[in-house]
Amino acid sequence: MSALLDADVLTIFPHMFPGPLGDSITGRALTEGLVHLNAVDVRGFATDRHRSTDDYPYGGGPGMVMRPEPVVAAIESVRRESSRVLLMSPAGQRLTQRLATELAAAQHLVLVCGRYEGIDERVGLVSDAEEVSIGDFVLTGGELAAMVVLDAVIRLLPGVLSSAEAWRDESHALAGLLEYPQYTRPVEFRGLRVPDILLSGHHAQVAAWRRRAALVRTRDRRPDLLTADHLAELERLERLEAGDAQPRPA
Ligand code: SAH
Repeated sequence: MSALLDADVLTIFPHMFPGPLGDSITGRALTEGLVHLNAVDVRGFATDRHRSTDDYPYGGGPGMVMRPEPVVAAIESVRRESSRVLLMSPAGQRLTQRLATELAAAQHLVLVCGRYEGIDERVGLVSDAEEVSIGDFVLTGGELAAMVVLDAVIRLLPGVLSSAEAWRDESHALAGLLEYPQYTRPVEFRGLRVPDILLSGHHAQVAAWRRRAALVRTRDRRPDLLTADHLAELERLERLEAGDAQPRPA
């Protein structure tokens, strides 16, 4: 069976891969061949005697910068016509569920992991690469960032999640809303009961409760995600329920 996604990770620490991606759901996707993940040692593309991949920054300043030649040679050794080349960088486009979904449609991803103070600016320019950030904080290297990107992408590939692990309702996929609260057994834990409606077996009411809970949670925690339509929907639901004895979602 041919893989749904091929990914080459370019790093000076190839032994870090697959790392946590080798476990659980992503691990299964790898062993079943749904995903081919290959770690490429950038050091193998160093050309000088010392196999150096970094050097002092022009203009001075602390730390070292990854040299362009080995990184570009490594990219060019794996890239194909259809590849999306992603440079892990805190200055990049922020990873979102939308970007993950887009990347899941790619056939080949090349993820380039920086170290030290980052990668020579010219790498991105000559390799038509996109910079991707996993959030507004600075890591010591791009490897964990690449794993985060891959984890988010791999679980979106068809057949990776079983229907029992279905992802459609999850935070950021449920039409841009956070997910409703989830409960499992026991029915009562430390005096806190699972909302009765979830025990009712009434699918339509459960669905309505979850929708409203997702809207409320998003309004309370991430109002920036709420659209005008969401707000109108929530107001409508609240008007309908005014005077209703039903418990409010936590
Ligand atoms: N001097 C750089 C930080 C370099 S951190 C700056 O201030 O922008 C070293 C490497 O870690 C980067 O090259 C990048 O590959 C990776 N990295 C750090 N933070 C990251 C983030 N938020 N998202 C993605 N990659 C990150």
